[in-house]
Amino acid sequence: MKDAIVFLGIQGSGKGTQAELLAQHTGFLHVNIGDLLREQVNLGTEIGAQVNTIIQKGELAPDEIVFELIDRRIADCCDGVIFDGFPRTLVQAEFLLQHYHVVRVYYLDLKKVDAIKRIQGRKVCSQCGTNYHITNHPPKKSGICDACGGKLFTRGDDAPSAIRKRVAAFYEETYVLKKFFEEKGELKTLPALEPIQEVQDMIIEDIKLG
Ligand code: AMP
Repeated sequence: MKDAIVFLGIQGSGKGTQAELLAQHTGFLHVNIGDLLREQVNLGTEIGAQVNTIIQKGELAPDEIVFELIDRRIADCCDGVIFDGFPRTLVQAEFLLQHYHVVRVYYLDLKKVDAIKRIQGRKVCSQCGTNYHITNHPPKKSGICDACGGKLFTRGDDAPSAIRKRVAAFYEETYVLKKFFEEKGELKTLPALEPIQEVQDMIIEDIKLG
């Protein structure tokens, strides 16, 4: 079984940012399920056609599709995986436990009101996927990615109606996983509003101890 580290948290809590930094530190593969799904949409595949409307509405994609995309991405890849945006339901959590050795689950704790503020100002690079925020983490040149010069855009599912649905889906289907992993002794809660590097240092310290 491969090792898995999981990032759990409401939209905008910084799962992607922390997962990417930890992937650089550990050499594990960073797997973001939202990205895998959006890739299918952009490639115009059959799966993409099935999930496109679901994603735009801010609802969850079917579990079987999520499992298939994970299996494809991870086949013969690496020693360990860092999941960001997975699991989001109890069924997905059971799948995770059956197929991976869960090293740790990090819950990035952020209030709903702060999450909404963060998502509302989010801009994403159309070329390399780097995230920005119009006030908290603006690019040097407005609308242009610092890393690659690509154009920044607002994701369709960051529109207000979809944000409301995604936040509701988090509390209805995903929040229960906090307790689920807590009871298994695998969960550590981290303060998502602290500076990015400080949160990362807490994670690295925790992994060393474990
Ligand atoms: P994210 O980029 O993590 O905000 O995910 C964007 C969208 O992809 C979500 O709103 C869902 O529609 C879908 N999605 C991402 N991860 C999952 C998952 N684990 N299970 C089902 N749908 C997902």
